[in-house]
Amino acid sequence: MAGLYLRHPASLAHDTGAHPERADRVRAVEATLAARDWLGWEVRDAPAATDDQLLRVHPPEHLERVAAACAAGRALDLDTPVVPDSWPAALHAAGGACALVDALCSGTADTGFAALRPPGHHCEPDRAMGFCLLSNAAVAARHALAAHGLERVVILDWDVHHGNGTQAAFYDSAEVLFVSLHQWPFYPGSGAAGETGTGAGEGYTLNLPQPAGSGPAEWLAALDGAALPAARHHRPQLILVSAGYDAHRADPLGGCRLETATYRELAERVAALGAELDAPVGALLEGGYDLDALAGSVAETMVGLTG
Ligand SMILES: [Zn+2]
Repeated sequence: MAGLYLRHPASLAHDTGAHPERADRVRAVEATLAARDWLGWEVRDAPAATDDQLLRVHPPEHLERVAAACAAGRALDLDTPVVPDSWPAALHAAGGACALVDALCSGTADTGFAALRPPGHHCEPDRAMGFCLLSNAAVAARHALAAHGLERVVILDWDVHHGNGTQAAFYDSAEVLFVSLHQWPFYPGSGAAGETGTGAGEGYTLNLPQPAGSGPAEWLAALDGAALPAARHHRPQLILVSAGYDAHRADPLGGCRLETATYRELAERVAALGAELDAPVGALLEGGYDLDALAGSVAETMVGLTG
């Protein structure tokens, strides 16, 4: 299978000093991949997102507010410092997510991984928070629906934190099934099992909270027993993975116990479902703050995605 790895130098310029979500994360991933000849994947620079792409999820006021905060170097919340270079980084992170969708929907890539930062899954349509400036996965899913005519997309989020931003973007929508595995209760507080969507979106949000201390057995059981059956039932034409690595046992922020090899198993199982449904699978980098665990786990994800 042909894999596409998307990156951009802007991801390294988003430098806010001592912070867990730092440029060395991407450097660690790329050093590991370079040493493994990029696993045979094509490496391509990500474009910046267009206004049209962003405005499908975010109101213009959000874009103006975040761009102005970056220009001023004014933090978006206590966890989310920014510098002027953060805005182009965010544009390329969202644009790379859309380029991944373009490659998968046009068939120029069988699978892909967008290793860009800042991450996106905590950013709600009108609120940047939790290291996230733009809602990358939501922008990508909306792009698949609007630009490629898809009718059903699944976003599977396996970051240790609940993807409140992605959930908010599709909470009232039946087009995108949002499925999240995460530690709970935990930051950002949302993600209880009772949060299932509203209106036309009722039943199209599936939260699978996991207790602190849970490990590979619990997470894989939730994937096999609930996440994948729900995804299969939705009959997606595209599967996006919000791929965070902070449920790794070595992660300094998370409290779960996944192993590096667990990410290969997660990716293999999602890829198998995608093959069964003829739905391509692409992954977007979210969290993951232990550099060795992150780099090894991203590589194992890529191995798992290519089957
Ligand atoms: Zn996280």
